[in-house]
Amino acid sequence: MKAKITCPECGMEAGVQTPKNGCLPFAKCTSCGKLIAAKPPSCCVVCSYSKSKCESSSVK
Ligand SMILES: [Zn+2]
Repeated sequence: MKAKITCPECGMEAGVQTPKNGCLPFAKCTSCGKLIAAKPPSCCVVCSYSKSKCESSSVK
């Protein structure tokens, strides 16, 4: 699925493609180019920086 994450560096929304089965621990901001890492204890950047959750956490 596609999710939008808010970059902690520049505050812009970056669209990311999340894997079907699993988390996305890192994503590259399409605006500033920074590598966004998941914020513990979240498993992935979608859970950390988006209003939506990744697929793996929604099925748990
Ligand atoms: Zn950014």
